[in-house]
Amino acid sequence: MQFDHILIRFGEMALKGKNRKHFERQLLENVQYRLHGFKKAVVKKTRGRMYVLLNGEDPHQVMKACQQVFGIYSLSFAIHTENDVEQLKEAVLSAIREEKGARTFKISAKRADKSFPVSSDELNPMLGGHILRNVDGISVDVHQPDVELKVEIRHEGAYVTAGDYRGAGGLPIGSTGKSMIMLSGGIDSPIAGYLTMKRGVEIEAVHFHSPPYTSERAKQKVLDLAQELSVYGKRIKVHVVPFTEIQQKIYRELPDSYGMTIMRRMMMRIAESIAKEEGALAITTGESLGQVASQTMESMNTINEVTNYPVIRPLVTMDKLEIIDIAKKIGTYDISIRPYEDCCTIFVPKEPKTKPDRDKTIAIEQSADFTEDLEKALGAREVVHIDGKEASKQTEDFSDLF
Ligand code: ATP
Ligand code: MG
Repeated sequence: MQFDHILIRFGEMALKGKNRKHFERQLLENVQYRLHGFKKAVVKKTRGRMYVLLNGEDPHQVMKACQQVFGIYSLSFAIHTENDVEQLKEAVLSAIREEKGARTFKISAKRADKSFPVSSDELNPMLGGHILRNVDGISVDVHQPDVELKVEIRHEGAYVTAGDYRGAGGLPIGSTGKSMIMLSGGIDSPIAGYLTMKRGVEIEAVHFHSPPYTSERAKQKVLDLAQELSVYGKRIKVHVVPFTEIQQKIYRELPDSYGMTIMRRMMMRIAESIAKEEGALAITTGESLGQVASQTMESMNTINEVTNYPVIRPLVTMDKLEIIDIAKKIGTYDISIRPYEDCCTIFVPKEPKTKPDRDKTIAIEQSADFTEDLEKALGAREVVHIDGKEASKQTEDFSDLF
């Protein structure tokens, strides 16, 4: 016998009262999306639980893929048998043999189907004895076993489960609304997107592109990052906004020192307009307090002034090294470090205001009219649809990420 199922448990979601059905349906859809490449696997839902029927797919590969789906708290391998003692004996033996390196074990049997003639108290020693007789170098430890084999006798058959693997946690993407992420080609914003998705938020992305100062390669890099993110959840729509003319106008018509602050206010306005059009109720950025001139408290306050949308900044209190750790784990780091030009790094004033004054910024900005320029940029945007199913994603062990 082999592991033929993966058992999926969801924690936090179960607390959500009336929404529970909606959350479960979304999780089912997301697991199906993530397992797209495993053609034979089938996902099914029972009360309060979910199973993947492997149908011959590799249990370990499927386990790794499931561990990346938000909304899952823990997972186990399982073998499904009929309610039959001989089959159960064979199943516990196969399960323990899969747990290589285990020196101690415990059997915990539970009989939900009372018509099954053997009680749980009788099953534990019966199945445990079978393992002891057939496996060398293993003993029972009921307090701190290396492996606990759970045996559950249900009406529809029995499950022998092994191992307790950690899931990605969070909530199923698509269950709590949508946010518009401002996605650059840097290290930070993809991680901000990933952490926003962790709380069940679907994301769309806006990217500001300044040809000919920024190249097609720089744009492609952002699309590649979106592709990497889309593996974890849903398809992602990326809005690529031409930003050159606005930048040139700021550079030409406004004082140098306030250029960076005003450029970021323009970005925020455009992000808000697209969010409104697309039904996103928040904006996400990769800002981290104090990291660069535009991310001082004064800058963030002045830039934020142009929108009353909630701005989600998952990285605001994180150090760069913590952000890099996540980037390496989720596979965005290698893309982010490809050399590229960002629109924010061209037209950078020699001495940008690190502590812009809010009222002064507003006064300076009003000396030029950007209404038409903003509309033009919005209208000229290119929309690219990214589908994570097409990504060839290596699966890593995520259990120590959070
Ligand atoms: P990142 O690594 O995400 O680029 P950063 O540390 O380089 O961040 P900045 O360049 O100051 O910081 O950008 C701050 C935030 O502004 C980014 O995290 C991102 O959300 C947004 N942003 C910057 N450049 C762009 C761009 N070209 N298009 C869309 N959003 C951008
Ligand atoms: Mg950047």
